[in-house]
Amino acid sequence: MSSLTLNTLFARPALKTGLSVAVFGAMLGLAGCNNASNTSEEAAAESETTETAMTESTDAAATATPAASGEQTVTIYSSRNEQLIQPLLDKYMEQTGVKVELMTDKEGPLMARLKAEGKNTPADMLLTVDAGNLWQASQEGLLQPFASTVLESNVPAKYRDPKGMWTGLSLRARTIFYDPSKVEASDLSTYADLADPKWKGKLCLRTSKKVYNQSLVASMMEHLGAEKTEEIIRGWVANLATDVFSDDISMLEAIASGQCEVGIANSYYYGRILDEKPDFPVKIFWANQDTTGTHVNVSGAGVVANADNADGAVKLMEWLSSDEAQGIYASSDKEYPVKEGVDESEMLKSWGTFKQDDINVQKFGELQTQAIQLMDKAGYK
Ligand code: FE
Repeated sequence: MSSLTLNTLFARPALKTGLSVAVFGAMLGLAGCNNASNTSEEAAAESETTETAMTESTDAAATATPAASGEQTVTIYSSRNEQLIQPLLDKYMEQTGVKVELMTDKEGPLMARLKAEGKNTPADMLLTVDAGNLWQASQEGLLQPFASTVLESNVPAKYRDPKGMWTGLSLRARTIFYDPSKVEASDLSTYADLADPKWKGKLCLRTSKKVYNQSLVASMMEHLGAEKTEEIIRGWVANLATDVFSDDISMLEAIASGQCEVGIANSYYYGRILDEKPDFPVKIFWANQDTTGTHVNVSGAGVVANADNADGAVKLMEWLSSDEAQGIYASSDKEYPVKEGVDESEMLKSWGTFKQDDINVQKFGELQTQAIQLMDKAGYK
């Protein structure tokens, strides 16, 4: 069951979708040129900063759909890798007959686009990674609240916005990885322990500019307080083997090549490397098992504030939280299902079960600005 909002009571303005899609398409064309140097590995590695793509033809303007069938279309602005999301959407379209248009770009440009388009946006749903991004979209007035008993039942409360502005749809653990030729699992324990001088010259980290690290640090601030967290970050920086990395894959490769011995990354990047290189010489360690649990974040979605088809967006989110869709997230994306009781892939099972941090992921957004300031102060680039 899902709730309709005021927006759906208004008729879809003529040409609205067609014009916006055409303009967006032109912009995407330019962005695509800029991204042309992306290697396929980079694109595959970085799901949320993949090459710009649009599944629907920009000819949409020429074939603007009438209002009645327009209500059957759900338009998604997504910062997720099209290759990961399109198979899910294809399945949904096949089962329901609902048309789904997917437009992908990085989260920053997508949010700017939503702001600029205002009431004329063709978007119904924003699909992105990290509670920090979803929180920011909500703060900037780009989302509207929705209610769904299906989502409330499928998605644990800690992975949903308490105000009902967005919901998590898949989980990713940000944890510790190590070189088993140099490090024993028994040498490892917590994120905080990576600040210990015993790791001097042995730690690799991704840049603090990435929201994943901002969310991790926000969770540490919530558990340990700002002062203690700053001390830990200073310790991390002092232990760095080399400059910070721009992405998790390069960081993991640096461990594999012996440049460093330990680091922090998202679990699915490791899974995607293992898919291609089953003998990849890096191991996963579940951080903070004797304390607060491993840091877990979401990918998720919300209904766009000016959506024409808010109800369609909620229905699609409900389907994405179903057993079937959740199983696909786990098997092809190497993410964890957000819904309890869904079978994980063999690879995820091989990593063992772990205690998750119980924090409501919305906190990562609330503390984001403070986390950024703290990392800056502590010299974490
Ligand atoms: Fe990612």
